[in-house]
Amino acid sequence: MSARSAEHPVTLLKTGALDLFAAHPQESQALPPSRGAALARLAQVRPAAYARTRNHLDGAVTGLSAYLTHGLLTPHEVLAGVLAKGALPVGHKLVFELGWRVFFRHAWSHLGDGIENSLHPGPMPDHAYLADLPADIRQSRTGLPVIDEAVRTLYATGTLHNHARMWLASYVVHVRHVHWRAGADWLVAHLLDGDLASNHLSWQWVAGTGSHKPYLFNAENVARYAPAHWHSPGSVIDDSYEALEALARGARAAIAGARPGDGRGAALAEPALCAMPPADLGLHPLDEATAERLRGREVWLVHPWALRAPPPDLPASAVVIGVYFSEYHQRRPWPEARWRWVDAAMAQVAPQRCLVDATRLAAALAGAAQVRSVDDPHLTRWLGPLARLDAAPTLFPHVERRCDSFSQWWTRATRGLQGAGELL
Ligand SMILES: Cc1cc2nc3c(=O)[nH]c(=O)nc-3n(C[C@H](O)[C@H](O)[C@H](O)COP(=O)(O)OP(=O)(O)OC[C@H]3O[C@@H](n4cnc5c(N)ncnc54)[C@H](O)[C@@H]3O)c2cc1C
Repeated sequence: MSARSAEHPVTLLKTGALDLFAAHPQESQALPPSRGAALARLAQVRPAAYARTRNHLDGAVTGLSAYLTHGLLTPHEVLAGVLAKGALPVGHKLVFELGWRVFFRHAWSHLGDGIENSLHPGPMPDHAYLADLPADIRQSRTGLPVIDEAVRTLYATGTLHNHARMWLASYVVHVRHVHWRAGADWLVAHLLDGDLASNHLSWQWVAGTGSHKPYLFNAENVARYAPAHWHSPGSVIDDSYEALEALARGARAAIAGARPGDGRGAALAEPALCAMPPADLGLHPLDEATAERLRGREVWLVHPWALRAPPPDLPASAVVIGVYFSEYHQRRPWPEARWRWVDAAMAQVAPQRCLVDATRLAAALAGAAQVRSVDDPHLTRWLGPLARLDAAPTLFPHVERRCDSFSQWWTRATRGLQGAGELL
């Protein structure tokens, strides 16, 4: 992950963000919520340009993460789509980055909820960090262009280039001394591709609680990879790596340009987070009549992490229902834009959708002949007792033994492989 930078096409960061501000602040026009749009975006991937430019904010990144997170595409399909244009070695940058996603899932499968706690001590003890994310960061008014632009882009588009995520996380933890968990919980809530494993473990990687050293960046690094209006000369990050490392380890510094209130312009409102979907989505209640309809039938559950058409072996008499577990959303609410995005995609495969708690859903499904779905670790604890689950789609050979570092996992997952095609 040393050069863990991914980028969105210029249109997404520039045109997309400006369009969104101007006309549709609640929707991401750049990433239409459909499988067709996901496949169209996959068809545009250019592996050679990706490898060359992915660290730049205007580089040729794929923009596929929201589709992958919500199961509109699987990692296997992404690799197959890319290889249809030509063979790639297994160590190609794009294959490598897909590997990070799969590795984080591997780590999650072993650590469970442990990914929400520091895996080991970082540069300072946990208790030395602030517990809350300061308002000037949330409101895009730190006065540091690189941070304020990142937050503005996040709120406007629901997405952010990998390099910008790294800068934002590093600033939060190592410059402002905010605990990584506060930043991770905030960011994952606002991302359209918010995925607990990729997000929380990336924050730990940046924080140095899941890696050997903290990830640090300075103004020169921003000037190299970001457009001019992100540059932050003369600010707290315009310093040597030695000075930034001392700051990360707790040295007191005059945090010029990083104090609340130093920001330029007005505060940006943070999008509200909602545990309930917008009322006009028209979700159905899971009532007695529905339970009666399910009696003796096979049921396929569609959920936000597997927005796919049901499998071909599902009988025509089966009932397809889209479900949102209220237990999950009480704990991890979404902005309205993500509710709308996910529900638009879900509606295409599940005309009947509901927000329900696991107990009520179990009662409604009690008379069904069989209940099936696709596993996903975000929901396993609620889905598992209710349905027969197909394994979450993945890529790379299964690595049984727990690997604590990406390189350990990568060595095992790709042992003996030459071409990326051997992964399919
Ligand atoms: C602090 C932080 C938080 C993050 N939170 C998330 C998150 O919630 N959800 C999420 O999907 N990714 C997250 N990432 C990883 C990465 O930033 C995004 O996957 C990537 O920016 C998505 O853009 P893309 O699809 O254009 O990626 P591309 O560069 O085009 O990569 C193709 C695919 O490979 C995978 N990938 C690429 N880079 C990474 C990476 N570093 N880690 C894991 N998978 C990767 C993604 O599935 C991505 O869609 C986070 C990274 C950081 C540093």
